Amino acid sequence: MLLTADQIHDGKQWLPQGSVIELNEQGVIVAIHQHRQEEAVHYEGTLCPGFVNAHCHLELSHMLGAIPEGTGLIGFLLQVMRRRNDFTDEQKAEARTQALQQMLDAGIVAVGDIANTTDTLSLRAQDTLHWYTFVESIGFLPERAPNSFAYALNTLEAFAAQTPGTHQLRQAIVPHAPYSVSGDLFALIAAHQPGATLSVHNQETADEDHYYRDKSGGFTGFLANIGIDDAVFTATGKSSLQSYTQHLNPGKPLMLVHNTFSSADDIRHVQQQFPQVYWCLCPNANLYIEGRLPDVNTLMATDAQLCIGTDSLASNHQLSVYAELLALDKAFPQIGWERLLRWATYNGACALQLQHSIGSIEAGKRPGIVQIKAGHSIQKIV
Ligand SMILES: [Zn+2]
Repeated sequence: MLLTADQIHDGKQWLPQGSVIELNEQGVIVAIHQHRQEEAVHYEGTLCPGFVNAHCHLELSHMLGAIPEGTGLIGFLLQVMRRRNDFTDEQKAEARTQALQQMLDAGIVAVGDIANTTDTLSLRAQDTLHWYTFVESIGFLPERAPNSFAYALNTLEAFAAQTPGTHQLRQAIVPHAPYSVSGDLFALIAAHQPGATLSVHNQETADEDHYYRDKSGGFTGFLANIGIDDAVFTATGKSSLQSYTQHLNPGKPLMLVHNTFSSADDIRHVQQQFPQVYWCLCPNANLYIEGRLPDVNTLMATDAQLCIGTDSLASNHQLSVYAELLALDKAFPQIGWERLLRWATYNGACALQLQHSIGSIEAGKRPGIVQIKAGHSIQKIV
C-alpha cells in the first residue's frame, strides 16, 4: 500500500513534499519513498501517525457535563468525590464504552489512563488501543502509606494479569498528586517498578504551591472537608514541585501532568534534575477548571519534552488529542504545527515507552495513519 498527501508529518517533523509512505497489509511501515507518487493513493490535507493521549481517566467518562466550568481545582475535586458514584454501574459502563469509541474516532492509538478501580479491565480486553494504565495511589497521612500502597498493588495485579492481544498492555502504580500523597508514599511508589513511567498531577492549581510554601491557600480546608487533619504536614518554603521531587528517583521516567502553575524556576529545576521528564499538557481541562494555561513559552525555551492529554470527560467536552492541539494553537500560535504534531505523536509515545512501535512513521513501526482534513476533521485511515 502506497500513500501520499498534501503534507506528511512523520511524528518528528514534516517530510519533504511528495513523500510516499509504503505500508504492508498489517499497517507496518515498510519504507518512505521520495518517488513513486504516481502509484500512491493521494489524500487531501495532512497525514501523521496515530495520536497518543498521554493522560486520561476513562473511568470518569460518566461525569460528562456533571460539573460546571470554572469551579477551580478544589471545588472540582470535591464535586468529583461527591458525585462520581451517583450513577448506576450500567450508566458508567455505557459511558466508558462510548468514550473509548470517541477516542478511536479521533485517531488515538494509545492511552495513558489513570485507574482508581478495575473498571477499565473490559475496555483493555477489547484490544483496540495500546494501554498504559496508571494505577493511582492516594494517601495523605504518612502512617497510612503501607496500606495505601498495598491497596494500589492489589489493583495493579488485576491489570497485570491480563494477556495482551495485538496491542500492548502496561501498568504501573503512580502517585495521585502532591497534596494527596505523603513523602513516605511517594518514596514507596518511586522505588517500585524502577523502569516504569511515574505520572503525577502537578501544579494544577496555585493553592498547591501555597500549601507547600507556607501552608496557606485552600488545601487545609479541603483536607478538613474530607476528614483529614493535616497537622502532620510541614511547609517546605519551596514550590510543590521542588519539594516532592526530592522523594523521586531521577533515573525513572517522569510524566508531569498539567503544570498550569509551574514557574520558570520550577521548569529549569526539574529539567536539570530529571533526564527523562515529560510535561503533559491538557489545555482544555485547564481552561475548564481553572481558566488558565501553562507557561508553554518557558517550556519550549528549556527544550522540555511536551506531550498531550485530554484528562477526563469530567473536565472536558471531548476526548480528542487533536482538539487539545487546536486549543494550544489558538492560545500560542507561535508553537506551530510541526511541534504540535510531534507532541501529540512521538513525544507521547516516548512518555508511555511505546516509541519502538508507534508514534512515528518509520520502517518497522505500526503507528496507525491519521488524516487531518480541511475543516479539522480527523479520519484514521490505517
Ligand atoms: Zn487527571
